[in-house]
Amino acid sequence: MTIKRVVIVGGGTAGWLAANHLGKQLHNNEQVSVTLIESPDIPPIGVGEGTVPNIRKTLASFGISETEFFRRCEATFKQSIKFINWMDKDSSTKENYFHHLFDVPSKYGEDLTAQWFKEGQEKHYADFVSAQHSACEQAKAPKFITTPEYQGDLGYAYHLNAAKFAELLAENATEKFGVEHLKANVKQVELNDDGEITSLITDAYGEQAYDFYVDCSGFESLLIDKTLNVPFVDKSKELLVNTALVVQVPTKETDEIPPYTLATAHQAGWIWDIALTNRRGVGFVYSNNHMSDEEATAKLDRYLDGNKEGLSYRKLPMKVGHREKFWHKNCVVLGLAQGFLEPLEASSILLTDFAANFLGDRFPESKADMAGLEKRFNHVMGYAWDRVVDFVKLHYCISDRTDSQFWLDNKKPETIPETLKERLALWQQFTPQKEDFFSKFEVFDYDNYLYLLYGMDFNTKLAVKDANYQHNAKQHAQNIVDVSEQLNNALPNHRELINKIKQYGMQPL
Ligand SMILES: Cc1cc2nc3c(=O)[nH]c(=O)nc-3n(C[C@H](O)[C@H](O)[C@H](O)COP(=O)(O)OP(=O)(O)OC[C@H]3O[C@@H](n4cnc5c(N)ncnc54)[C@H](O)[C@@H]3O)c2cc1C
Repeated sequence: MTIKRVVIVGGGTAGWLAANHLGKQLHNNEQVSVTLIESPDIPPIGVGEGTVPNIRKTLASFGISETEFFRRCEATFKQSIKFINWMDKDSSTKENYFHHLFDVPSKYGEDLTAQWFKEGQEKHYADFVSAQHSACEQAKAPKFITTPEYQGDLGYAYHLNAAKFAELLAENATEKFGVEHLKANVKQVELNDDGEITSLITDAYGEQAYDFYVDCSGFESLLIDKTLNVPFVDKSKELLVNTALVVQVPTKETDEIPPYTLATAHQAGWIWDIALTNRRGVGFVYSNNHMSDEEATAKLDRYLDGNKEGLSYRKLPMKVGHREKFWHKNCVVLGLAQGFLEPLEASSILLTDFAANFLGDRFPESKADMAGLEKRFNHVMGYAWDRVVDFVKLHYCISDRTDSQFWLDNKKPETIPETLKERLALWQQFTPQKEDFFSKFEVFDYDNYLYLLYGMDFNTKLAVKDANYQHNAKQHAQNIVDVSEQLNNALPNHRELINKIKQYGMQPL
């Protein structure tokens, strides 16, 4: 049987990313149609404002102008996540913060990690290995108005308004790729004797039959859970935070915009603070097994420094884990319906984008093609989820904070995945090497681990390096200092550049 009618259920970020990925691949095939059904009554979750650099390639591939994206999505540049108070407050002479930058470390030559150890770790690791550290600290943009769209003088992703982003993606998918958009509630799902989905019963359009179903229904998990009963793999023993209080705080047009996400740790979790052009999105993330809702509310009040007037907090419970399978019969699941860990490294949109792209590139022509693809998709996605669990857990288990039960519980061996334990044992002996990351489905790899491990003063036995390395490394480190100075003098201020982009636009690619 040829696959002719494809439906996506859900019109949040996941649904519309999927609509663009599938639409892009399938719109030239007149035999195939893509429809997106979205409930007019259940709004998208409306959080998910931090992204990672892959999103640039995705938006460019959809043919979306970066200038238009900035004009419509209240977007700002994100060059890093700045982690504050993730270490014991008395353990280091350095200020208690570190950056996970988007520019690769040691960009102009050999890995500088050994040299950083040799020189006594006095500077922040990220500052030693990258010129982007000081650009971030000085609120610089990662590019110039003359730099073409989607290209950067420094690595970057975005902060964005999720609702406006979904609107832009929707317009692109319907106008450019001919995706049909229906507003209706799916009330019932019909199956055949083989357990495949045959049709959706909707309130506005009655029964609609399709050949292939993509579940992007958010935490509802309408198809993969409620219909197909694919089990959930619970990860709450590894990742302890499970609740968020979220709030939007208006800002002034003249306020400085930090070009990074702020992630400030507290006794039972952390707080994200994401600056858009006209407001901040703030989220107090915590483990409700370690902190009561009342205490969390009081702490968020304190974080906002009493500026609470007119603001209301929205509480979002987080079910920590993912589906056991991501493709079952004639249904694929993406986005929050697939699973969620926590927003620490903005991995959710990344995984959705990765999976939707994978599906678009290998979309089955017929039912006969599906079994092999299903197996491959499940294997790849399962691997990717496990590696995200490892990377997020790393932030908690190598911290030397012991000031609350939350931080103590996070270090218990039974909460740390075996794969992560094995790698950490290796990295006590040797600094990470590119070869330690042998699959391209590691969504966080070598560069990310270097910034995390040494941003958090992980102790690696220093390998003896020859005189040649030291000579080259010193020059390389000096080069980074020089480039840093040049960039700081030349790069525009973050807000200034965004204003200019809105007024004049960037050069199209
Ligand atoms: C606290 C928190 C913070 C987060 N922060 C980040 C971050 O910084 N970075 C990041 O990458 N991700 C983040 N995420 C995840 C991010 O929000 C999601 O990846 C993203 O919004 C995609 O959501 P979605 O489209 O899967 O679901 P939703 O936005 O919930 O959309 C679900 C859609 O399904 C539709 N629907 C549901 N039931 C039906 C029905 N019966 N019939 C028809 N339609 C239906 C709804 O109408 C809606 O359109 C965060 C998540 C949480 C909870």
